[in-house]
Amino acid sequence: MKFPIKTFKRGDQIIAFPKNTLEVSKLLKFARKYNYEILPIGGETNRVDGTKPQSNRTIILNFNKMKRIEEIDSDNYIITTQSGALLKSIQQVADKKGLFFPVNIAPSDKCTIGGNISTNVGGLQTLRYGNIEDHINGLEVVLSDGTIIDFLSKLKKDNFGPKLWKIFCGSEGIFGIITKANLKVIPKKKYRTTYLIKVHSLKKSVRLLKNLRRKFYDNLTSFEIIFPIPSNYLFDQTDDEYNLIIEIRSNYEHNYKKELLSSININYFKVNKIEENISNSWIWKKREELVYNQSKYNFQQKFDISLPLDKWTVFINKIELFTKNNKSFTPYFFGHLGDGNLHCNFKIEPNTKKNNLMLSKFVYQLVIQNHGSIAAEHGLGLKKNNLLKNYRSKNYYNFIKKLKNHLDPDFKLGKNKLFKA
Ligand SMILES: Cc1cc2nc3c(=O)[nH]c(=O)nc-3n(C[C@H](O)[C@H](O)[C@H](O)COP(=O)(O)OP(=O)(O)OC[C@H]3O[C@@H](n4cnc5c(N)ncnc54)[C@H](O)[C@@H]3O)c2cc1C
Repeated sequence: MKFPIKTFKRGDQIIAFPKNTLEVSKLLKFARKYNYEILPIGGETNRVDGTKPQSNRTIILNFNKMKRIEEIDSDNYIITTQSGALLKSIQQVADKKGLFFPVNIAPSDKCTIGGNISTNVGGLQTLRYGNIEDHINGLEVVLSDGTIIDFLSKLKKDNFGPKLWKIFCGSEGIFGIITKANLKVIPKKKYRTTYLIKVHSLKKSVRLLKNLRRKFYDNLTSFEIIFPIPSNYLFDQTDDEYNLIIEIRSNYEHNYKKELLSSININYFKVNKIEENISNSWIWKKREELVYNQSKYNFQQKFDISLPLDKWTVFINKIELFTKNNKSFTPYFFGHLGDGNLHCNFKIEPNTKKNNLMLSKFVYQLVIQNHGSIAAEHGLGLKKNNLLKNYRSKNYYNFIKKLKNHLDPDFKLGKNKLFKA
């Protein structure tokens, strides 16, 4: 038995660095024949144990040698890239051509396009631009038996069969390996203004979002909210107020600054900082710090949920009542109010299994009752592989299992990821 390409050892694991799609295909055929599992990894920044090997008969596919950005087609607004390219590299090559790839998350210098697509990454501008699935025009994938399928396309109109590549977005590598992508880019907007605004209540924040969306729909790119407890840590404040980060992008030098400020009622909102066309933003750095502070201050029970806009205050009122009656739980909430995604995290004292279960059950049921999602942007991985069975309909659960059985009958790709085998 000889590996079809050179491999290395990483602890108990075997690690391979394929250079192209054909080498990925050869490895998958080999894995099937000699009973190995395959685990694709990108920058390993996922938060759900999606890149944790489950057996020592695992070949880890590392995409470090598949980073080539093959073409930037400014006429068709398409970038063609191998899946190991870093998100940051895509943003940079687009920028050099006066184009914009509208997906951004904090670890953009570590995560790869393949990992981003597999987790259907959202990020800080989902409000305006959507998730990465909205910026893909086609993919090349390799199935578990080594079959290479070329779904690549630069065409805008192409209904020559359904867009089957879509099932690979957000499926965390369990249906196949992504080896190439056609990414959609758009012309870059010239001006960017970021506001840090303090406000007394969630209700007023929701009202402001609705109002700004109506006025600036195309230009309102971010609307982030930071609840009182994380705000107190982040800004050394003691007044238990909320903070909002709002961003407007346009091609007009005035960038709607006057209009935006006049939409903000100064009785309720205080504009604390404005940054104009700054590449090294203090405000967005603070937003990143907020994420790292969760662990620093021990808010380790994390829920990544989303809710329709009209349900946010209902949800938060119920949570506030729950934490008032259960002193073991201290909330640390922040999120992308603009796209409905709330990072709803807690410190639990005492941190017992019973308390953990009680909190999870309460939060998940409340989200479902309010027509939300209990896995908004971080996916399921191994960490949350019980949720589909417990909280999706039986028909949904059976359908995904059937699909998996069809595409990967031997469970070579991510056994127990998303749902338990
Ligand atoms: C600080 C921080 C902030 C974040 N912010 C956001 C955010 O704002 N919005 C958001 O949506 N997400 C966010 N995330 C999570 C984000 O989805 C992932 O971190 C990122 O997309 C994963 O990319 P990666 O290259 O690191 O993939 P990895 O973590 O290496 O892998 C992720 C999954 O994809 C699979 N995979 C990797 N490459 C391939 C491939 N080529 N083919 C098939 N499957 C593959 C892996 O097996 C794994 O299941 C954040 C994470 C961090 C750490």
